[in-house]
Amino acid sequence: MNLIDPIVQFQAEIQQIRRDIHAHPELCFEEHRTSEVVAQKLEAWGIPIIRGLAGTGIVGVLKNGTSERAIGLRADMDALPMQEINTFAHTSKHDGKMHACGHDGHTAMLLGAAHYLSKYKEFDGTVYLIFQPAEEGGGGARRMIEEGMFEKYPMDAVFGMHNWPGAAVGTFGVTPGPMMASSNEFEVIVRGKGAHAAQPHKGIDPIIVAIQMAQSWQTIVSRNASPLESAVLSVTQIHSGSATNVIPDEATLIGTVRAFSTEMIDLIEKRMRTIAEHTAAAFDAQVDFRFKRNYPPLINHAKETAFAAEVMRSVVGADKVDDQVEPTMGAEDFSFMLQAKPGCYVFLGNGDGGHRDMGHGLGPCNLHNPSYDFNDDLLPIGATYWVRLAEAYLKKST
Ligand SMILES: [Zn+2]
Ligand SMILES: [Zn+2]
Repeated sequence: MNLIDPIVQFQAEIQQIRRDIHAHPELCFEEHRTSEVVAQKLEAWGIPIIRGLAGTGIVGVLKNGTSERAIGLRADMDALPMQEINTFAHTSKHDGKMHACGHDGHTAMLLGAAHYLSKYKEFDGTVYLIFQPAEEGGGGARRMIEEGMFEKYPMDAVFGMHNWPGAAVGTFGVTPGPMMASSNEFEVIVRGKGAHAAQPHKGIDPIIVAIQMAQSWQTIVSRNASPLESAVLSVTQIHSGSATNVIPDEATLIGTVRAFSTEMIDLIEKRMRTIAEHTAAAFDAQVDFRFKRNYPPLINHAKETAFAAEVMRSVVGADKVDDQVEPTMGAEDFSFMLQAKPGCYVFLGNGDGGHRDMGHGLGPCNLHNPSYDFNDDLLPIGATYWVRLAEAYLKKST
């Protein structure tokens, strides 16, 4: 591996920051302490910062030379509302909050890169260091964009990175085009008419209507979507009733829809609504149909992806970069940034969990698992990638 020596030498300090953030997890838009840690480090290293974008967001601005070109490097800072079961020294100090997605590591890797870039400045142009709040469902990326980040800090392209458990340390995975799915949720309330369960003819049974609806929705992916495209429609909750001898008034269906294109989401939403309304009508019931679009699909831009893959190969070697990695049905709000700017998002192998300190939970080291921990061996790899990417993108003219 071609790691940058001063970054490797700085690893202990970056690891200490990573573990400190891990021990103090904060949820969506509440990243006050984390944001403060980031701000203090950047300022200590002489990097001008802008605070307050999307509340706790921070943008560090590193300028060098005369070029107008600019690149954005983005890390997310928030944790998850779940209980950590690890008992090692840096385990979460806050009950019910945990860095189980490795955003502590993402923040630390970008800080490691910032430190090096501020010292050596081997680039011509501007590096924007984007520390984003609220990736886990809060859409912090969307809010930063809505608050004018790309107008105030014009950048030519923006890049993101996520650790990827199961993939070996020192490997990268990326693909042009769709890499992560769009996530959406629905809540559909069927309004029938309650009755004595022994007198069903006096009511309209919302449970039967809801079951018909859920069954019919399963034909959307199998009969309406192109078999060459991927999509998921899962009903994950059905709520109704409170007694064995009462036909209830209402039934609620809740679930998620995932796909890799907005066209597919449009199709699924439209078909779900048609089936819901007509099924309800067929049984003389009413329906409230709510479909909420969360994150759009994450679509990597071809040119920037090829550029980034070349940088990855220079860091870890060609055989360690899968540039046609299999997409995932998981979602990520960096997709909003990639709708606004060209760029690329990559996965960085986090290993199989063998890196974890004594006292880790017995579960797998997977994202959103209570036994998860970010792998500190990634710190110099991720930071080196960020630095080489920025230097290559803002290459000095010779
Ligand atoms: Zn996550
Ligand atoms: Zn994450």
